[in-house]
Amino acid sequence: MSLSGKTAVITGSNSGIGLGIAWELARAGANVVLNSFTDNEEDHALAEKIAKETGVTARYIKADMSKGDECRKLVEEAGACDILVNNAGIQHVAAIDEFPAEKWDAIIAINMNSTFHTMAAALPMMRKAGWGRVVNVASAHGLRASPFKSAYVTAKHGVVGMTKVAALETAKETITVNAICPGYVLTPLVEKQIPDTAKEYGISEDEAVEKVILAKQPSKEFATVEQIAGIAVFLCSSAADQITGTTISADGGWTAS
Ligand code: NAD
Repeated sequence: MSLSGKTAVITGSNSGIGLGIAWELARAGANVVLNSFTDNEEDHALAEKIAKETGVTARYIKADMSKGDECRKLVEEAGACDILVNNAGIQHVAAIDEFPAEKWDAIIAINMNSTFHTMAAALPMMRKAGWGRVVNVASAHGLRASPFKSAYVTAKHGVVGMTKVAALETAKETITVNAICPGYVLTPLVEKQIPDTAKEYGISEDEAVEKVILAKQPSKEFATVEQIAGIAVFLCSSAADQITGTTISADGGWTAS
């Protein structure tokens, strides 16, 4: 499948799942725009490496997804946005009565509100181009809850709801809007949760992985970044033309029960 001539904007893509999706979309021929809130040499080097190894055009644009105007500016600066991947996300683990209000605000802004702002900027560009794909990286936590993750679960449920609304609004326009709902994928975001989870439950880090983190994932295996990226590329293919307004789970059976 070739996505050549298409431009993909992937939020939060200097690490983990977002970076993996950028690589796979580039391998499928799309020009890619990488993003995060930093502006380091390493960020730009990632784009250069993708361009060199795949032959597509790759750029890195700094924009803070906690700020609505920067979300919109990212899409505008990209100049084209045939594929929008809303992936930027953070996590904080604490009981509701101990949850810092600023962490709540940041998670809601980055994990949920950014998706509204980037879509608001990208959908008119997709309409003009006559084709578009929005892939929202939600989570199994967009479909199920866990204790101590109030902001994350709220934001991801919001993203799943917004995905359905956007799909209905674009249903007749050769634009599809879907969400991927991964279970646990071993990325820096999850690695950071291991000590926090161990602390919340008063257990060791090994026990936190086995008894808490993968407790809900019946396969007892982490999903891989490459698997999630493969789903994103599939959603951009013509085989997925009639898939819109839905979620694709990659959670080792978590949401089966
Ligand atoms: P990660 O920490 O490796 O990546 C998160 C990305 O978001 C990074 O590139 C980071 O720089 C970026 N980011 C954070 N704050 C930002 C901001 N203010 N502005 C712009 N970019 C920002 O984590 P990951 O595991 O790759 O997570 C990616 C997405 O996948 C998130 O939305 C996460 O909720 C979701 N997800 C992850 C898992 C998992 O198990 N890892 C499971 C389900 C869903």
